[in-house]
Amino acid sequence: MHDIPLTVVFGAGAAGSTAALVLARARHRVLVVDDRTYRNRVVAEFHGFPTRDATAPARFLHDAHDELRRYGVEIVHGPVVDAVPSDTGARVVLTHGRTVEAAGVIVATGVRDELPPIAGLAERWGRSAFNCPFCDGWEHRDRPVVVIDAAPGADELAVLLGSWTRHVRTVRADDVSSLQGPGRSIERVVLHDGRTIPAAAVFVKAPVSPRSDLARRLGCVLDHDGYVLTDSQGRTSNRHVWAAGDVRRSPPQPHQVVLAAADGSTAAISLHKASVAGDLGTPCGMVEGLR
Ligand SMILES: Cc1cc2nc3c(=O)[nH]c(=O)nc-3n(C[C@H](O)[C@H](O)[C@H](O)COP(=O)(O)OP(=O)(O)OC[C@H]3O[C@@H](n4cnc5c(N)ncnc54)[C@H](O)[C@@H]3O)c2cc1C
Repeated sequence: MHDIPLTVVFGAGAAGSTAALVLARARHRVLVVDDRTYRNRVVAEFHGFPTRDATAPARFLHDAHDELRRYGVEIVHGPVVDAVPSDTGARVVLTHGRTVEAAGVIVATGVRDELPPIAGLAERWGRSAFNCPFCDGWEHRDRPVVVIDAAPGADELAVLLGSWTRHVRTVRADDVSSLQGPGRSIERVVLHDGRTIPAAAVFVKAPVSPRSDLARRLGCVLDHDGYVLTDSQGRTSNRHVWAAGDVRRSPPQPHQVVLAAADGSTAAISLHKASVAGDLGTPCGMVEGLR
């Protein structure tokens, strides 16, 4: 089996899981590495994905990873420690000193939300504090919401939210002292000057940045915010490396599970075509007639 070229997928969120599924079904040998810190792990359920609307992200990924194992995909839970270009593609370092040689790599490591330091925000993130009206606007329709302005674009977010509720107030993050309400819910936003604003939820416009610099280490060109630059097929400037999901979607491109999945599929198909064209190692069926 080991003469079959390996594709390594960094990250097993919607993007990486879909890429791995498409590649496995195209008879590639696939290793997925994921440290289980997917972006929407804080939410009880996510929305906007047909047939999976209002599904717990953990359930979605559990099912996706089960499907991968059925095709023989190896899933390693832990970080990709390092990745560097090599003669045959990329040398990927995992934990416990394990190193693998990959003919192709798909970087699907996502982004992180840089929340402002407001008391009560971190523990409410994904429960009563959100970022995206398309994800959580419906659940707060006609209810009072507050937009917290911690990055450019807060005004646009407030205007958008007006499609779900007329009761939208915007405040600067620096002016907010705390979020208050029982458990992980919100009843009021408290300002430093003592004023309070009633709210059923807050929507935070905060900086968002790519999670890892693995693409940079592989020599891929990034934009000035660290997003991986790709063509429409997910190809990066390194011919062995593709990128998929939030990590290649610089603002104002939307971040959605269904779009990340579509990106993963697009990148996998492009990688497969490159391997058929001889630009990468060929997948197993063409090498050995196996499977
Ligand atoms: C609060 C909140 C609510 C949201 N709600 C919705 C919603 O309702 N509907 C919707 O469509 N979208 C929603 N989103 C957006 C959605 O979460 C993202 O668009 C989606 O998760 C992107 O998928 P991805 O695969 O690109 O990245 P992720 O899901 O973030 O997956 C990236 C994976 O890479 C792994 N990883 C990162 N670095 C490394 C490393 N060095 N080594 C190994 N593994 C690594 C992580 O463990 C992670 O599993 C929400 C986002 C937030 C923050």
